[in-house]
Amino acid sequence: MDRYDVLVIGGGPGGYVAAIRAAQLGLKTACVERWIGKDGKPALGGTCLNVGCIPSKALLESSEQYHRARHGFAAHGITVGEVGIDPAAMVARKDGIVRQFTGGIGGLFKKNGVTWLKGSGRLVGTGKVEVTDADGAVQPVSAEHIIIATGSRPTPLPMAPLDGVRIVDSAGALDFTDVPARLGIIGAGVIGLELGSVWARLGSSVTLLEAMPEFLPPADRAIAALAHKELTAQGLQIRLGARVTAAKVADEAVSVDFEDAKGAQQAAFDRLIVAVGRQPVTDGLGLDAVDIEPDERGFIPVDARFRTSAAGVYAIGDVVRGPMLAHRASEDGIAVAEGIAGQHCHVDYGTIPWIIYTWPEIAWVGRTEQALKAEGVPYTVGTFPFQANGRARAMEAAQGQVKLLAHAETDRVLGVHLIGPHASELIAEAVVAMEFCASAEDIARIVHAHPTLSEALHEAALAAHRRAIHI
Ligand code: FAD
Ligand code: NAD
Repeated sequence: MDRYDVLVIGGGPGGYVAAIRAAQLGLKTACVERWIGKDGKPALGGTCLNVGCIPSKALLESSEQYHRARHGFAAHGITVGEVGIDPAAMVARKDGIVRQFTGGIGGLFKKNGVTWLKGSGRLVGTGKVEVTDADGAVQPVSAEHIIIATGSRPTPLPMAPLDGVRIVDSAGALDFTDVPARLGIIGAGVIGLELGSVWARLGSSVTLLEAMPEFLPPADRAIAALAHKELTAQGLQIRLGARVTAAKVADEAVSVDFEDAKGAQQAAFDRLIVAVGRQPVTDGLGLDAVDIEPDERGFIPVDARFRTSAAGVYAIGDVVRGPMLAHRASEDGIAVAEGIAGQHCHVDYGTIPWIIYTWPEIAWVGRTEQALKAEGVPYTVGTFPFQANGRARAMEAAQGQVKLLAHAETDRVLGVHLIGPHASELIAEAVVAMEFCASAEDIARIVHAHPTLSEALHEAALAAHRRAIHI
């Protein structure tokens, strides 16, 4: 039986990063991963690389370029001929990027000496795992430390069963090779907004049916309100408080029954995406063999060092509490490996950035204004609109604003909320500032190059002290 110091089950951004870090620290490491890619070959990278972050961003980029060529160039005085779109080529490009990146993880494993055990891992006792490959062959392995990084999958909706063609989950929605004239999406969360944006830019009429009465509850209310205005102006029809009761495929269309404040409603779509959240993957994992009891939502309970209730078994990423984000899973992976190696083990969950890659992009870190109010924390607010930012105007992309929240007494930055161009990149400065416990004044006193989008954060910090220059 092969014996390892560390065995990781799951090769997504949590698991593969944990495996590489453990190997870097001199531990004999293997990673069990069962994913089969679109080309029928085993693939590393998990949800993120195969059907999540990377493919969705590839499609967002393609669709944004198309949309700009059709609607954005004229403002710059650029005339182009007829602009066309070949969705199959767009999807093929996306698949190429996915292949490169998943293959790249295999290369990183080789470089770092991590063994990839291709197949499904199942705990069978303390320090013992069985790996079953695609042909059903079973290989027993043992390890001193086992890290569970089995991730998540889309939450199914019983009243909208997937048929894989007309009714699909987020993975299916990355592979449409024609543009659906009418696209319905159940759930106006992160996936609904990102994938809704992709297909709306390509010409679909997109309707999002969202059960909650409020739009984007996790976001700061002011930013959510601006996002709602921008996205609806782009044509996304966002129906809040809509409770879907049935979805059926008939006559090459999907009919959806739902109820909202106006009563019972019906809508017909050419395709329907179900994007109502994700749930942890623990089935067939053998948790009972080591006496691990998932919580009521199916997550594996862990302590601050990612230790489960079973000695020598850890869990990280989407399968445990916390935001379901790739960068969060990877940081868990590094921390757990370092903890196993006897080093410090810590992830600061208070400074994990959230990004929604719509246009304009939405990004935030730290607490929202509504959270500070609810907690009774005294705060000041500084905002700055991209309308007054020279670079954003030059880019013809001056939508949105930066909102900075600082403690009213200590001036420490408590949250930064953005909607605007390249918010996904701009938020990094706010994360660094918060990690270093910066005050609004610290950001205000840092020289920001001109003309850059980052000046908007500088001005928001000045605005928190009522001394912004350009508004
Ligand atoms: P996963 O990536 O789900 O990986 C788990 C792996 O474990 C899988 O490969 C699975 O095959 C394997 N596995 C499970 N059980 C077993 C077993 N018993 N044996 C062997 N292998 C097993 N996050 C972001 O931060 N930014 C984004 O832009 C972003 N975009 C997204 C877009 C979409 C459409 C989706 C669906 C998700 C997106 N996410 C994004 C979320 C992100 O993909 C996840 O948070 C991240 O992948 C979680 O990493 P993980 O390693 O915990 O789990
Ligand atoms: P989500 O939690 O972001 O949104 C799901 C939405 O569906 C919510 O607004 C919820 O109220 C709604 N909903 C739930 N049940 C419903 C029902 N029966 N009818 C109508 N609406 C319903 O989840 P998601 O969009 O599926 O994405 C899953 C997770 O994947 C995200 O929370 C995030 O952690 C991750 N993700 C991240 C990114 C990113 O970082 N850019 C992108 C995509 C996904």
